[in-house]
This record gives sequence, structure tokens and C-alpha cells, in this order.
Amino acid sequence: MANPARRPLIAGNWKMNLGGRQGLDHRRRLADEIAAQADNQPQLVVLAPFTALPLLPEALAGTPVEYGAQDISAHDSGAFTGDISGPMLTGFGCRYVLAGHSERREHHGETDEVVHDKVAAALRHRLTPILCVGEPLTVRTAGQHLRHTLDQAERALTGPPVDDLTALVIAYEPVWAIGTGHVATPDDAQEVCGAIRGHLADRYGPAAAEQIRLLYGGSVKASSSAAILRQPDIDGALVGGASLDPGELAAIWRSAQPRT
Ligand code: PEP
Repeated sequence: MANPARRPLIAGNWKMNLGGRQGLDHRRRLADEIAAQADNQPQLVVLAPFTALPLLPEALAGTPVEYGAQDISAHDSGAFTGDISGPMLTGFGCRYVLAGHSERREHHGETDEVVHDKVAAALRHRLTPILCVGEPLTVRTAGQHLRHTLDQAERALTGPPVDDLTALVIAYEPVWAIGTGHVATPDDAQEVCGAIRGHLADRYGPAAAEQIRLLYGGSVKASSSAAILRQPDIDGALVGGASLDPGELAAIWRSAQPRT
């Protein structure tokens, strides 16, 4: 059983889907499913493409569903063609942003240093960064998954001061599980999340480590979520493909029982 002070969080990563008006029906259906969310219930956040952000305040008005973006520039303004800054995201009412998703590391060459700067930019603008870490299959097969994942976390959080780490969320997303249908076992997910929390305790002290929420992500579905979410160091899930189905996302959210 995880620390009840950490409110469970289910975050749906829409990736490059539901970017415009065609997604409005999804949002209405999700809002209907979640209508009864109360303060002590799990939190539900959707991470939408930039083009959907102007539509979200209206689409989600009066619902408890919160939203954020999938990427943030490390810079606040200037000659960075195609990038979107923290102030732009907060201007659209975003409260969350992904940093270091493996698809950005792979397709956009984002290094740990870049990820670090994006986490820092999010915190600077009072956005909650969801820092993604996790190993590829070759690293797991070699038995180096803990070292790899802790190194990624360490590099993303060191360097220039990261001012309010307790606002941080870390998602353990093994690359071999993302979009593959091969969900990690609850024990495997707990092993890594427990190691991340232990590392945070060594680095920043037990009190800070106890406050930081850790998610598991990688092929989570309603059929697999409850067992994963029961693990003591797992405070929620980052859900990709399954989040495109409002009924499925709502079922995952319902499986994240409030901690008593
Ligand atoms: C993700 O994109 O973060 C993810 C976990 O995807 P999926 O659930 O589809 O594996």
C-alpha cells in the first residue's frame, strides 16, 4: 500500500491523436464517465497535442479532468522555430507537461541534458513535469535496467538547481513496454519504482522522496492496471494507446482506488 498522502494520478498521453475538433466527442464522453470525481479520488489528466490545447478549457469546463501538454521548450522565448514555451502552455491553462518521453528521446534526439532543461523550464513556470525514464529491451536483457533508469533520473534532476522537486512526477516507462502490448509485471514495475524512490531518498531526503509521485507506463489497460496500482511505490499510470478510448481510460482511473 502506497503512502496515502500521495494522490493517485492517471495521465492519458494522446500522442499525435485527437488534435482538433474531431476529439471533442472523446472529451465529452470522458467527462461523462468521470463526472463524479471528488477530491479524495484519483486525479485524471489528459496530455493533448498542442493543437487541442485551445479547445480543452471549453471541452473540459465543469469537469474534474485536468490537462497538459506532451512537450515544452527549455527556453522561454526567442528563435526556436516550432517550439512551444512554458508561458505559452500556462497561457492555455496547462498544469502538466511530459518531459523525456522515450518517443521524443528516440525521434527527436533528446538527451538527458535537454530533458533536464525541460524539467527545469516546467518547474520555473509552475507546471508539473512528468519526467519519463526507462530502459530499452537490450538493457533489461543485460540486467542493467535499474542502473540505466536511475542514471536517467539523476541526469534529468542535476545541474542547475531544480527548485521544487516535490512538484515533480516521475513515470517509469520501459521502452519495450510502450505501445507493444507487453506490460511489465507488477513486481518488475515495483522493483524499479522502489529503486527510484530509494534513490530520491538518498539524494533529497526521505521526506521529499515520500511526496514525489511515481507512475508506471507501458501498455497499461483496464485489465492490468489494478494489480500494478496496488504496488507500494506506484502512485498511478501513464497511459498511451488505451487513453484514446474514453471508456477504457475511465476504467483505468476507477481501478486506482483512493488510498485510505
Ligand atoms: C506512453 O506513450 O507513454 C505509453 C505508455 O504508451 P502505451 O500505453 O500505448 O504503451
